[in-house]
Amino acid sequence: MVLPGEEGAELLSDAGLARLLAPFRPFRPQEVLRRAVYTFHARIACEWRRERVFLMGDAAHLTPPFAGQGMNAGLRDAHNLAWKIALVEQGHAAPGILDTYAEERREPARAMIRLAVAMGRIVMPASPGEAAFRAALVAALEPFPGVRDWLVAMRFKPPPAYASGLFLDRDSQPFEASLVGRMAPQPDLEGPAGTGPLDAALGPGFALVAQDGPGRRQSAGPGLADPSRPVFLLRPERYVAAAFDPGALEDGGARLAGLLGMAARLSAPVPPGA
Ligand SMILES: Cc1cc2nc3c(=O)[nH]c(=O)nc-3n(C[C@H](O)[C@H](O)[C@H](O)COP(=O)(O)OP(=O)(O)OC[C@H]3O[C@@H](n4cnc5c(N)ncnc54)[C@H](O)[C@@H]3O)c2cc1C
Repeated sequence: MVLPGEEGAELLSDAGLARLLAPFRPFRPQEVLRRAVYTFHARIACEWRRERVFLMGDAAHLTPPFAGQGMNAGLRDAHNLAWKIALVEQGHAAPGILDTYAEERREPARAMIRLAVAMGRIVMPASPGEAAFRAALVAALEPFPGVRDWLVAMRFKPPPAYASGLFLDRDSQPFEASLVGRMAPQPDLEGPAGTGPLDAALGPGFALVAQDGPGRRQSAGPGLADPSRPVFLLRPERYVAAAFDPGALEDGGARLAGLLGMAARLSAPVPPGA
């Protein structure tokens, strides 16, 4: 960290780098690939869409890198928006679904920035007192490798999920531990060709996944099988759009088509790459 009174150019000189590295290893200039001082920002755009122009990635949100999530968030933006634009362009969904891009992505991006800023205070203590506190904390965690590993692996990061958007009955799920609004898990599947991730088996586009799952929390209405094993509808970027009782698949598909403003029903073929 460039401290008050220090100059970036001096820190990047051979003498500056040698001084910074001295406590750890000798300085060998021939091993230096790149020298740079980064200025970290924590910013988010007020407006993510104006008519046909959308902001995504660092143009929409800038985060300090301490949570390692800047590019991840940008990729999630792109995955979120791409299939929606494709459906609208191909006439399979109403243009209104494009507004759900910012609705879904903005708050998770903001939450990740806040997390990164908080982590930065730990990673880059600004005073000797804060540094001493961090050292004491790390020492105190030594007898608890489970907690230490949990911290190091950043398992405290909130799982990818959206509070609102293009989801069916997100807040009134009849199923225990509903995945609706969340990113689908990515288990390895065993098949005739060997083991591979679920994504590889599903391919692009929407996907229906039937699985053994938790039972029904409450009766969802007449005519539905009980106990049920939900069938999940995955969006192209692998967030769970809906969870259906197998007996209510057709009705659920029609309702989801209504949500998307789709002319076609769920059972109709999805265009390649959508
Ligand atoms: C030190 C550091 C460590 C990081 N570590 C991580 C990490 O561990 N994990 C992670 O997920 N992220 C990390 N990031 C963040 C990640 O690098 C960025 O979030 C990501 O590169 C942003 O991608 P982007 O495509 O949105 O923007 P950029 O990579 O900035 O791409 C924008 C491109 O647009 C071009 N451009 C700009 N203006 C114009 C114009 N007018 N016309 C044409 N082209 C233009 C630019 O030249 C550039 O090539 C880190 C960042 C830093 C600085």
